[in-house]
Amino acid sequence: MAVKKLNKDKVKEALQELTKFRLIAPAKSDEVVVFKQISDPEEAFLDYGNSTVPPKKVVFPQTETLFRFQRGNPELREKNVEEEGTTVIFGLRPCDARAMSIVDNLFSWDYEDPYYLKRRELTTLVGMGCVNPPSVNCFCTSVGGEPCGTENLDILLIDLGEGYLVRELTEKGKKLAETIGSFLEDAPGGSEAKAEELSGSAKEAVSRSIDTSGIEAKLPTLWESPLWKEVSAACLGCGICTYLCPTCHCFDIQDEVEGAEGRRCRMWDSCMFRAHTLHASGPNPRPARKERTRNRINHKYSYFPGKFGVIACVGCGRCINLCPVNIDILEILGKVVEA
Ligand code: SF4
Ligand code: SF4
Repeated sequence: MAVKKLNKDKVKEALQELTKFRLIAPAKSDEVVVFKQISDPEEAFLDYGNSTVPPKKVVFPQTETLFRFQRGNPELREKNVEEEGTTVIFGLRPCDARAMSIVDNLFSWDYEDPYYLKRRELTTLVGMGCVNPPSVNCFCTSVGGEPCGTENLDILLIDLGEGYLVRELTEKGKKLAETIGSFLEDAPGGSEAKAEELSGSAKEAVSRSIDTSGIEAKLPTLWESPLWKEVSAACLGCGICTYLCPTCHCFDIQDEVEGAEGRRCRMWDSCMFRAHTLHASGPNPRPARKERTRNRINHKYSYFPGKFGVIACVGCGRCINLCPVNIDILEILGKVVEA
């Protein structure tokens, strides 16, 4: 696949061209960076660390109507995801792209989720390598990723200063690069070597790490350990660590009815909420923060790798950066390793 260069003075024109698709890019919103649809290249904010809300919401919306129904009418009016159109997510971080491939396992496992899978099919991922790891709490290299990794991306951009090295990685990426071909130029000699050097130094700059090799096997032996009470003592049960996690995928399904009309919708849920496992008959198998925190860690580092062969965490650091009481997943994992 080809390697090109996109000079920074051409980025806005390239983005303008991409607005013929549903273009999603990082943008500022109320002091934070989020991925949202843009129609004006001026809205894109590419010089960012990482977004507060991960781009998973593009393929797995926080709330979506699956179908509508009407009393007395057996016909369901199903959502047609195809109508959302071809989508380009521009400038996402390699860890967030990798996270989508992890979530794919869930939505294509025992049941093929047509809404999620159709969106994934319609979406092209243009990644932006982290030549400077965006947070002191990044630990992607401990969980199978790297700051300029290419997994699940269609194109990877690497910031060389005056422009981006554009690496086409898939047929989808090649097609998209052709769309903006008039704004690209051949990568000058030495730019690949410079990108490699930047990728290598970015790996070195990831400041936190953990040896995950024994964690999957260790966790089941710690089921009754007092460590769960200790590490969850401060938890508020707010769910931020799961809502903002790019690999978390719990959802709830609810029917909303008004008069004779109704809709079935799906919305994000969180295993950190007490009601998540509350049975209609009263009992709750995860009644306290201790059980809920134990589940969160076991799910990511034991159940998911046991079932799908991959840890359900990409080391983005969001849950550490954004937990209001500073609960730190690496500290918890450190205690698991030590226990
Ligand atoms: S973000 Fe922190 S306080 Fe909120 S549920 Fe997660 S661990 Fe608990
Ligand atoms: S568990 Fe935390 S560090 Fe891991 S992917 Fe989720 S938010 Fe990122």
